[in-house]
Amino acid sequence: MSAASKHIVVTGASRGIGRAVAVACGARGWRVVVNYARDAEAAQDTVRAAIAAGGQALAVQADVSDEAQTRALFAAADAAYGPLDGFVANAGIVAPVGRFLDMDAARWRRLFEVNVVGLMVSTQEAARRMVLSRGGPGGSVVLISSAAARLGSPDMYVDYAASKGAVDTLTLGLGRELCADGVRVNGVRPGIIDTDIHAAAGEPDRAARMAPGLPMRRAGRAEEVAEAVAFLLSDASSYMTGAILDVTGGR
Ligand code: NAP
Repeated sequence: MSAASKHIVVTGASRGIGRAVAVACGARGWRVVVNYARDAEAAQDTVRAAIAAGGQALAVQADVSDEAQTRALFAAADAAYGPLDGFVANAGIVAPVGRFLDMDAARWRRLFEVNVVGLMVSTQEAARRMVLSRGGPGGSVVLISSAAARLGSPDMYVDYAASKGAVDTLTLGLGRELCADGVRVNGVRPGIIDTDIHAAAGEPDRAARMAPGLPMRRAGRAEEVAEAVAFLLSDASSYMTGAILDVTGGR
């Protein structure tokens, strides 16, 4: 991987953790492709923040659950910034809090289409570009999981937790399958981070409500997750692959 200005693609970077990752990449002088699904204005705001931090940035719309759009995202990244050095599979969704007994299969399909299949298609596109055996520069992939993968999220969203369990397993497998071909794959498991995602689960104040019961007595900030991601993207983590970092304030 080139040491100077890395080219990084981040999915779901219009808001929350992905936005913070894009800005952290900008602060390192890297070139970042800011993917988003729906919110073009928020994505442009991320682009401005990443540039203000010292990098280059470009917004590209693609719903990661749409295979054609996802493959086109990487073609756009190729055209803008050339060889790829790193990829962050961050785009992810939850569904309203509920009990397993009351859920339907349409909900499960949507969760797995975005959190698992979308993550796999986008990671495959990134890896095909970076592996040494296909003429790539080598690189680093970071898969965003969740503490839910090891907690199971009973009475909340066991389906979301299961999708993140799949992400952890992919980290273990791909971290070992691709490392001899120049690509490291690691994971980050955020805990309770104060972003918009909790509103989508029907609990906009979840971070504040959970804070007193967390080991650090506070929720995390997206920027605190982004620093761990930037470390895994960087050459400072050169001997790490197949590892999963908890950024959970001890949860
Ligand atoms: P967020 O604030 O809801 O932001 C989600 C981002 O993903 C937005 O930029 C959104 O783009 C994008 N996105 C959603 N669906 C997409 C799709 N189908 N294709 C492409 N982009 C899509 O979420 P967050 O809290 O930052 O979460 C980011 C990741 O961290 C997720 O994988 C989540 O599971 C994980 N995580 C979060 C927490 C937490 O407490 N916040 C904890 C553990 C793990 P648009 O707005 O443009 O649609």
